[in-house]
Amino acid sequence: MREEILRAEHVKMYFPIRGALGKAVGHVKAVDDVSLSLYKGETYGLVGETGCGKSTLGRVLIRLLKATGGTVLYKGEDLFTANEKELRRLRRELQMVFQDPYTSLNPRMRVGEVLTEVLKIQGIGDKDSRMADALAVFEKVGLLPEHFYRFPHEFSGGQRQRIGLARALILNPGLIICDEPVSALDVSVQSQIINLLLDMQEERGLTYLFISHDMSVIRYIADRVGVMYLGHLVEEAPVDELFADPAHPYTKVLLSAVPSDNPHVKKERVILEGDLPSPADPPAGCVFCTRCPYAKEICREKKPGRTDINETHRVYCHLTK
Ligand code: SF4
Repeated sequence: MREEILRAEHVKMYFPIRGALGKAVGHVKAVDDVSLSLYKGETYGLVGETGCGKSTLGRVLIRLLKATGGTVLYKGEDLFTANEKELRRLRRELQMVFQDPYTSLNPRMRVGEVLTEVLKIQGIGDKDSRMADALAVFEKVGLLPEHFYRFPHEFSGGQRQRIGLARALILNPGLIICDEPVSALDVSVQSQIINLLLDMQEERGLTYLFISHDMSVIRYIADRVGVMYLGHLVEEAPVDELFADPAHPYTKVLLSAVPSDNPHVKKERVILEGDLPSPADPPAGCVFCTRCPYAKEICREKKPGRTDINETHRVYCHLTK
């Protein structure tokens, strides 16, 4: 049986919009009522266009952002009510790899120090053991010992992502949120980093939440996929099922942009009309109703509930009943 390591229920992240006197005059609903589970050793791909709330959700799930509502349990412990001491312990287990690790690396720190500092903050080991641990992780991610004393700006994008991964791995986490970790890299370097992530997962039994706007990357790396639109999860399914038989109109739009495996089969790309509505003023009813080619009256009036197509495939659409 699959071991559930994280369960998120009805998670909301609303950012206040401040008026002239600093008073909240509205909210940007970046994440609205999202529930999902992550299982040990899997890669859960979270997809959607820019601004759909997937990165915010990733941060909320490991409490880098404090949610407005909902609950997140990691191995049964409530992350949202954990105190500082409990959070510090949980932080070892919950790590993040960013799109551009350069912006999250101290430019004045040698990268070796970046890693030993992580251990020092957690009170792990002494100077010698921290150095040995950092060098061991360096080797794991394909960096050389001489890289240890260099500064972040001396590395290429791919090497910096290896440093980002090393920093996440050094605390031996259970879950890593990978936020568009390859989207800023050249295609050849992308596959190196993805394969490195997969190797580390196999070796350490890691669980990944892999955030991306690129369906081809998701298809390659993910076991299950969640599709987000305007702060909502609109469909979730095992990756093969989602690609073979998508149920939500928005998922179909995303998949229409993925090149066909068969060069003789021409796919018709569906282009969405209109812009993504503002999360400060989302449509009433279904959030996709302003752009959905199948929208009916009910879609504009009532939020679609959850429909379970089978045990592992769920969708939120009035058409799927
Ligand atoms: Fe389209 Fe209606 Fe389904 Fe929303 S509920 S995706 S508007 S058909």
